[in-house]
Amino acid sequence: MQEHALALPLIFRRVERYFGHKRVVTGRVDGETTASWAEICARTRRLAAALDRLGVPIGARVGTFGWNSRQHVELYLAVPCAGRVLHTINHRLFHEQIRYIVDDAADDVLFVDRSLLPVVWPSVGKLASPRHIVVMDDGADAPLPDDPRILDYDTLLAEVTPHAGDFSIADENTAAALCYTSGTTGDPKGVLYSHRSMVLHALLLLMVDTFGINERDVVMPVVPMFHVNAWGLPYAAMLCGADLVLPGPAMRPEELISQMERHRVTFTGAVPTVWRGLEPLLKEHDLSSLRTIICGGGAVDGALSRSYEEAIGIPLTNAWGMTETSPVVTVARLSTVHDDLDPDARRAVIGTPGPAIPLTELRLAADDGTEVAWDGATPGELQVSGPTIAARYVGEERPGPAFTDDGWLRTGDVATIDEHGYVRIVDRTKDLVKSGGEWISSVELEGAIMADPRVAEAAVIGVPHPRWGERPVAYVVRRPGAVLSADDVREHLTAYVARWWIPEEVRFVPEIPKTATGKFSKRQLRLQHPRSDDPSQPSQPSQPPRSPPPPPPPPPQE
Ligand code: AMP
Repeated sequence: MQEHALALPLIFRRVERYFGHKRVVTGRVDGETTASWAEICARTRRLAAALDRLGVPIGARVGTFGWNSRQHVELYLAVPCAGRVLHTINHRLFHEQIRYIVDDAADDVLFVDRSLLPVVWPSVGKLASPRHIVVMDDGADAPLPDDPRILDYDTLLAEVTPHAGDFSIADENTAAALCYTSGTTGDPKGVLYSHRSMVLHALLLLMVDTFGINERDVVMPVVPMFHVNAWGLPYAAMLCGADLVLPGPAMRPEELISQMERHRVTFTGAVPTVWRGLEPLLKEHDLSSLRTIICGGGAVDGALSRSYEEAIGIPLTNAWGMTETSPVVTVARLSTVHDDLDPDARRAVIGTPGPAIPLTELRLAADDGTEVAWDGATPGELQVSGPTIAARYVGEERPGPAFTDDGWLRTGDVATIDEHGYVRIVDRTKDLVKSGGEWISSVELEGAIMADPRVAEAAVIGVPHPRWGERPVAYVVRRPGAVLSADDVREHLTAYVARWWIPEEVRFVPEIPKTATGKFSKRQLRLQHPRSDDPSQPSQPSQPPRSPPPPPPPPPQE
C-alpha cells in the first residue's frame, strides 16, 4: 500500500474539492453571516499565507480565544495544514490560569474575537510571548487596546497573496492541536493531538454506529470550539461536507433554539446544562429537523431526556470522553440486544455512555490494579487505550501518574461495563467538580479558603445541582476565636478564583472527617451531606447565593 500520511490537508482538500457549495452559518453580536465552504477554503489559503507573513515559525503554537465561528473554522484548517499548532483556549478560566496556559504554551500569536478581547486582555496583555494579537470581527465594538501588537484579521487576510498549491504534512505524527485540561492539583496540563489522531477521530464520527454524520446533515456544535475541538464536530462536518451552524456569541437559549429551527439543524451537541436551559422553550419551536442531540461531558438527567422525547420526539443521547481522548470514546446506541426493551428502558440506554467506538479499548481496574469483570455491576476505574488517546501530557518526558505502566490512560472515572460493553459512570476519583460543563478544582478551592488566617481547615465536595449538574460545597472549620461568616469566605475567595467557582453553600463544622491516613474524607463528607430530597434538611443552601455562576456560555456583554 502507498505510504500516505493521515493528516489534516486530506480534510482540507476534500472539503475544498467536493463541498464548496455547502455552507457555514455564524452567529454574531449584530446578527448572522453565511459563507460557503469555497469562501472559507479561499480564506484558509490567505490565513496560511498570513501566518508566513507574520513570521510564525513552523511548529509554533497559535492561540485562539474564539466563539464558534467561521473565522475559528478557518483557523482550524489553516494553522495545522500550514504546519503550526492550533491552541484553543477557554476564555472562562480565571485570569491566572489563562496567563499560565498562554505562557506555558509559548503562543507565538493570538487570535481573539473582538467581544472577548476585554475578557482576556487583563490576562494576556502584559505577557511577553505573543508577538501579535489578531482581533477577529464578531460584530462587537469593544475598544481596542493601544498596543502595537494588535492587528485586524480581515486586513491581514486582504493584504497577502493566498497560499497556492497543496498543503503538505509529511509525518502524520506531527502535532496539529493543543488543549489544556484542569489538573486536580497544580497547573493545567496540555494535551497535544497529532494529525493522525485528528483524522482518525473525524472519520470515527462519521460511522453510522457512532454519530453517523453525513453530507445531508446540518451540524450545530454548541459545545465550544475551545473544548476539545468542539468534540471533533467541525472536522467531521468538513470531511463529509455537512453544513455547519455556529452560534458565535449568540449563546442564549432563545438564540440557540431559534438558530436550530431557522437552519433546520439535524445534529447538535452540548453539555447537559445547555439542554436544561433550552428545555422550557422546546414546545414553542419547530425542531422536527433534529435527528440526534448529543448530551456529553456529563451524565444525562433521565427526567430531562423524557421531556425532550415528549416535546420533540427524540431523547438525549449520551457520549463519554475527555480532553485526553480527542474526546469521543463511547457513544450511546440502541443495538439488537435492546430490541425488546420498553420506551423508558430504551431512553435509559441512550442516556448512558454506551459502548466504545471502534479502535478504542476499555478496561476496568480494581484498587489493586487487577481487571474487573464486565458484569454491569462491579465498579472499577475506567482505563482507555487507542490511537486517539493521549500517551502523556505536554512537557512530561515519560507518562506520569495518569497513565498505567502499560500505557493506558487512567480516566479518574469509576464505571461499570455490562456484558455487551455498555459503560455506566458511577463515581469519580479525581477531586474535581463539573459545573455547567466546566471544571472546578476542589483542591484549589480548599487551598484558597485555607489561605484565610481565620480558617483552620476546609474541604470542598461536589453535590448534584438541578441547573449546573454539580456545584461545590465548602465545609469549613473556623480557627478558635475567629469570627467568620459564609459571606466572609466568599468575599475572601474573589481574590483567588473565578466568580463561578465560588460556592453558594458554605457549611461550618467543628471538624472535617479524616481517613485512616489523615486525609480529608470526601467520601464521608458526601455521605453526611444532606440530600436535596431529604425532607428533614433544607433543600436550599443555608446562605442565599450571592454570586450565582454565569450561564455556561456567558454572552459577551456579561
Ligand atoms: P473534560 O476533559 O473537561 O472533557 O472532562 C472529562 C470528564 O468529564 C470525564 O472524565 C468525566 O468525569 C466527565 N464526563 C464526560 N462525559 C461524561 C458522561 N457522559 N457521563 C458522566 N461524566 C462524563
